[in-house]
Amino acid sequence: MAKRDYYEILGVPKNADADKIKKSYRKIAMKYHPDRNPDDKAAEEKFKEAAEAYEILSDEQKRARYDRFGHAGMGQGGGFGGQGGMTMDDIFSQFGDIFGGGSGGGSPFDSFFGGGGGRGGRARGQRGTNLRIKVKLSLEEIASGVTKKIKVKKQKSCGTCGGNGAKDAGSVQTCTTCRGAGYVRQVKSTFLGQMQTTTACPTCAGSGQQITAKCSTCRGDGRTQSDETIEIEIPGGVAQGMQLSMTGKGNAGAKGGAPGDLLISIEEKPHEFFVRDGNNIIYELYLNFADAALGTSLEVPTLNGKVKIKVPAGTQAGKMFRLRDKGLPSVQSYGTGDQLINVNIWTPKNLSSDEKKMMEKLRESSNFQPNPEKGERTFFDRMRDYFN
Ligand SMILES: [Zn+2]
Ligand SMILES: [Zn+2]
Repeated sequence: MAKRDYYEILGVPKNADADKIKKSYRKIAMKYHPDRNPDDKAAEEKFKEAAEAYEILSDEQKRARYDRFGHAGMGQGGGFGGQGGMTMDDIFSQFGDIFGGGSGGGSPFDSFFGGGGGRGGRARGQRGTNLRIKVKLSLEEIASGVTKKIKVKKQKSCGTCGGNGAKDAGSVQTCTTCRGAGYVRQVKSTFLGQMQTTTACPTCAGSGQQITAKCSTCRGDGRTQSDETIEIEIPGGVAQGMQLSMTGKGNAGAKGGAPGDLLISIEEKPHEFFVRDGNNIIYELYLNFADAALGTSLEVPTLNGKVKIKVPAGTQAGKMFRLRDKGLPSVQSYGTGDQLINVNIWTPKNLSSDEKKMMEKLRESSNFQPNPEKGERTFFDRMRDYFN
């Protein structure tokens, strides 16, 4: 199969200069980049084809030979190791810098393919660590949502040097190891041949700068330790063990690096009256035997004040009353839980002799035994209450 002309592949005239060839290749490589065209064989072929054309036309000697002899001139010495052509790894390791275009730190691919000019320019310094705190909340606070002011000890950007760690503007110079790029290439010999990798510059830790005189406040680190009061808005409905995060509110990064995040672990304080069950809260009500038999009305606590409830005559232990929407809100904000009132009957322990006599009289009544034939099974009553 005849090979296409390299100039044609890159869409440049025969007399195009090196810069035009590079720009054109970049455009084509971006268009057909495998990250943008997953599982597209045709795009992969075009990506490889363009890389091969660029490999020849970007090299003065190879280009001159190609100009004189065409594809025949490439033969053994010029191409990519014979029939197999160039692999993706070859392309990335040899032409990685094309994608970087000098725009800065981290992986050159990231900055190029991350979308024009990278994300907020060069990523300087090292990212700060995440800061972890615990917040203890009452059920009342969880019910309403709450804003907490919490004092934390954290590393903040140094106020004297503005975070870069330098004594003054004159003591900042471009890193001599990476020439300001923030990353270095390393060539490794592997059984596949020479491979290039890109890593953060060891001299400047990715900042692209070297400091000749250090800031006296932070001793060149760019950070100082101090207290800060952080306002944390906690939505209603959070639960024990949940973690909230506030981006960029963690420790400052060294030498002007981006800050880490603040991670907030939620803890629940035990409540005097209530036990949580998802978004429902459960209240254990103890009725005296006479109230349960005769019926009554009484007040029960809720998360926002007391509520009067009616207890019908003949209420069994295990009966569950439901106060709709008196529970906790869903943290995803669909609906609110209920307060469930679980009825217990309080059995008197120290009866007087008069009370004993009355009890003994009551015991003789057949009404005082549960009758399964009438469906008097409290366990099922309770289940029905719960799921209704
Ligand atoms: Zn400083
Ligand atoms: Zn460097």
